[in-house]
Amino acid sequence: MTSQSRFSALAAPGVRGLHPYQPGKPIEELEREYGVSDTLKLASNENPLGPPAAALAAIRDAAATLNLYPDGAGHLLKLRLAERHGVAPEQITLGNGSNDVLVLLAETFLTPELEAVYDRHAFVVYALAVQEAGATARMAVSLPATDPAQPLGHDPHALAECCGPLTRLVYVANPNNPTGTWLSETAIRWMLDELPPDALLVLDEAYAEYVSEGGYPDGVALLADYPNLVVTRTFSKAFALAGLRIGYAVSHPEVAELMNRVRQPFNTSTLAQAAALAALEDREFIDRSRTLNAEGLQQLTGGLRSMGLGVPPSVGNFVLADLGRPVAPVYEALLREGIIVRPVGNYGLPNHLRITVGLPEQNERLLAVLPRCLESGL
Ligand SMILES: *Cc1c(COP(=O)(O)O)cnc(C)c1O
Repeated sequence: MTSQSRFSALAAPGVRGLHPYQPGKPIEELEREYGVSDTLKLASNENPLGPPAAALAAIRDAAATLNLYPDGAGHLLKLRLAERHGVAPEQITLGNGSNDVLVLLAETFLTPELEAVYDRHAFVVYALAVQEAGATARMAVSLPATDPAQPLGHDPHALAECCGPLTRLVYVANPNNPTGTWLSETAIRWMLDELPPDALLVLDEAYAEYVSEGGYPDGVALLADYPNLVVTRTFSKAFALAGLRIGYAVSHPEVAELMNRVRQPFNTSTLAQAAALAALEDREFIDRSRTLNAEGLQQLTGGLRSMGLGVPPSVGNFVLADLGRPVAPVYEALLREGIIVRPVGNYGLPNHLRITVGLPEQNERLLAVLPRCLESGL
């Protein structure tokens, strides 16, 4: 169709150069295309325990009111989250996944004249949000792969140096996806002190529940000292509710009020709010997720390193494996074995695969087939 070029020219400038987010390959698609069964998906940092039983029960109860619109303000959930974090409900913004609040921030604070900053190997959603707003992205150089503590990690100095008077947002995932690296409270405080006065630091804590390292900051606690901080959290990872789409931001109340103007009135569903409330109370589930993940991280990191692969120490629910060459043949070979992992070329890492921590037997299955897959394309 020749008319296509006309519509492309009509699109908003930020949309013209945009490439849509590429999710991990769906299980059904792999089974259809490759004729495999018993597929193992370790591609999207999903919780291998399945959803918490308490959340499923809450969904069944809440389903009786699906003829009604959700509580657009998410009153009860905000109240509980505020209690949990020791903040006021007015500081919370609910989102259709934390992806939604990351985009809301860009819609609220960016224009084509303004800039946002993030690391070269940051979560790709930041790039999409900034581009869609038509704003300019400044990408900071990461720490080198040879850094002894945080290979490919964020460099706070490099991030600060990218900031100027036009910077409104600085996106930092802590820990970062896909590197699994993290920044200490000292580093985050240093950044908050260094940032230009008009820049907000967006601290994306999607994997916070998994981190037990000393010196890892509770972002929300820093809000008391730094009003220019926005912390985002999600129910998609440790809380195991990725399919429901619910997350939130904690910020200065004025920032929340501004985001509320832009937000769709019913951006979180009745079922998502009910399930999130129930999941919040299920501390045992989070403990189980955390323990399982810590063991799986060791198992995967140790196993991959023993094959001679470089694996930065990760505190998320995934590891990053450096194959030392383009990953396509190995990724393909794994697909033929019925295992989906994640190539991260779109994160500026064409030689790396990101592998989500699964159940012990799932990690074992990956480690068992990987050696022969590594011979592909050699
Ligand atoms: C998975 C992830 C999220 C969560 O996205 P949701 O929209 O809440 O499912 C946010 N940030 C990072 C860095 C992630 O990896």
